[in-house]
Order: sequence, then structure tokens, then C-alpha cells
Amino acid sequence: SSDEVTKSRLAAEAQKKYGNPPPTIFSKIINKTIPADIIYEDTAKNKSLAFRDVNPQGPVHFLVIPKTLIPRISLVADDDTELLGHLLVVASKVAKKEGLTKGYRLVINDGPLGAQSVYHLHIHVIGGRQMGWPPG
Ligand code: ADP
Repeated sequence: SSDEVTKSRLAAEAQKKYGNPPPTIFSKIINKTIPADIIYEDTAKNKSLAFRDVNPQGPVHFLVIPKTLIPRISLVADDDTELLGHLLVVASKVAKKEGLTKGYRLVINDGPLGAQSVYHLHIHVIGGRQMGWPPG
């Protein structure tokens, strides 16, 4: 199927650029082999997905991810520029759809010191409460 073709193309691209990153639970969410509360999926571009975090840190907490497996923000390359910009636009649009008119927080955790636990790049979007600064 065209789904299988897309999957293998994405895997091949990721392997070429980032070595052979192990798939995470987010690959299963992308493939729909485990359930998630998906609130946005690209139809035309087929590049990104947004779904609610299972352990929300606020009244609204969702993740925006690329379908291709970029393990972490510290590994991005120049040719990821358009994709990364797209993820931010998706984050902004979905935040608006979620009613976050008074503001919200975007977070990308990188690596051990950044407290990253899932090595598939994701933008946290957290809102619906007052944030503090600096973050913990
Ligand atoms: P941390 O776990 O320290 O927040 P990350 O930035 O890597 O580190 O965030 C991973 C996020 O993915 C967590 O907020 C976690 O609750 C969320 N998560 C893990 N598994 C799932 C899942 N199956 N569905 C939705 N969210 C998930």
C-alpha cells in the first residue's frame, strides 16, 4: 500500500541522515499500531502529527512530532529547516484550535540533561494554566 511505501521511505531517509535510530513508541502512534488521542495530522504534506500527552502537565498538553524519525533537536541538519518550521506552525495552529488564546509554553527537551525520555523529536505544547520561569 502507499502507506507502506511512505513508511519505508521515511525509515530510509532517517537511516541515511541519523544512522539507525531505534524506533520509539511514537513510531507506533504514527503507524496507528497503538492508540493515541490524535488532534492533528497532515493530510497534504503527511509530515507531522499532534496528539495529547498521556501525562499532561497542564489542562492542555499535546505533542507535535515529525513523522520521520529525527531522534533529537541536537541532531537536526540544515535540510530540516522547512520541516522544523512546519512543526512550529502546526503547534501554533493546534494551540489556537485548543483555545489557548491567553498564551502557552513550547518545550523541546534534548538528551539526558534536557530530561528527554522519548528519542523521537517532539515539541511539547502546554497551556491552560499560568507558567513559571525559569522552568525546572
Ligand atoms: P519527559 O518524559 O521527561 O517529559 P520527553 O520530552 O521525552 O521527556 O517527553 C516525552 C513525553 O511523551 C512525556 O511527556 C510523556 O508523558 C509522553 N508520552 C510517552 N508515551 C506516550 C504515549 N504513548 N502517548 C502520549 N504521550 C506519551
